[in-house]
Amino acid sequence: SSNIKLGIVGFGNLGKGAAKAIKATSDLDLVAVFTRREPESLNINEPGVQAVHIDHAEDYQSAIDVMLLCGGSATDLPEQTPHFASMFNTVNSYDTHAKIPEFYQTVNDAAANHQTTAIISVGWDPGLFSINRVMADAILPEGKSYSFWGEGLSQGHSDAVRRVNGVKNGVQYTIPSEEAIEQVRSGANPELSKSDKHRRVCYVVAEENADKAAIEQEIKTMPNYFADYHTDVHFISDEELERDHAKAPHGGFIIKSGQTGSTNQQLYEFSLALDSNPEFTASVLVAYARAAFRLSQEKQFGAKTVYDVAPSYISPLSGEALRRDYL
Ligand code: NAP
Repeated sequence: SSNIKLGIVGFGNLGKGAAKAIKATSDLDLVAVFTRREPESLNINEPGVQAVHIDHAEDYQSAIDVMLLCGGSATDLPEQTPHFASMFNTVNSYDTHAKIPEFYQTVNDAAANHQTTAIISVGWDPGLFSINRVMADAILPEGKSYSFWGEGLSQGHSDAVRRVNGVKNGVQYTIPSEEAIEQVRSGANPELSKSDKHRRVCYVVAEENADKAAIEQEIKTMPNYFADYHTDVHFISDEELERDHAKAPHGGFIIKSGQTGSTNQQLYEFSLALDSNPEFTASVLVAYARAAFRLSQEKQFGAKTVYDVAPSYISPLSGEALRRDYL
């Protein structure tokens, strides 16, 4: 078929979400999933889709138009992105905000040298939230936009909880402050500290005979993760964790309240409420695969971010259809 051919690198939550998202399209085909594990150990269950060891990816350069890089941001993507950008057009969801500038440079070097297109830091944040922060601040120059996250399960904070001595399992939810959101909506342009904007709630399964008071203390005083926030710690059973906390919901708001003229209050708000963070993020990656393919066809090589990609490039529809039915 004339469909765009995709590969997935890394079959965790995001990789599985990407396989489902590709299935929901009619212009994209999944060719293969690449993994560092035994390929036979993956349960892909998609007829015609191969599971392949990551070391054999180079054999697929003519069979795959765009690789969706679904590894983790901490250690996988910094290594895998330049490597794959030397062979394929790529899209990734790199989300270590503070390191995006250096990541961009490294990926841009690899992609420009090998004439591929690499769209980096795609998803909802970074991604759709990034677009809306820029839109809001460009349109309403006074003041600034505010980002709120949650209510949602934070993978990084949950991992941090699970590393605490005596913790068998656990999850962490980030909860935005309703009061802070109302202040922002009102146009007050408040100064908000991290702890004014969000609080944190942990559900922890303790090891048998563990010192729960010590666990709670260690979590609440953990630098960077919890020390600056109001944090609640609840101890629950294995069964409760499995029953009530197995999903990965997330979302949040971008809010900008500004004035035009001298008296008119204007409220710009963008929000997401996601039942499954990885499935949604993967759906964004899959849509941007069209853009990676089209940009590469136009020889627009190198690293790109969501700021560089026009919306028509991510849509399956023609410019004519977009002007007629969406504009
Ligand atoms: P994950 O499930 O931990 O998967 C990461 C990698 O770990 C996979 O690619 C996989 O590689 C390996 N893996 C997965 N399950 C495994 C298992 N059972 N045993 C051994 N290895 C396994 O992470 P994720 O939830 O997919 O998230 C990936 C990244 O997406 C995160 O690090 C985050 O930075 C990013 N993200 C971005 C946004 C955004 O809005 N931009 C939103 C959400 C997440 P192999 O198949 O090669 O083993």
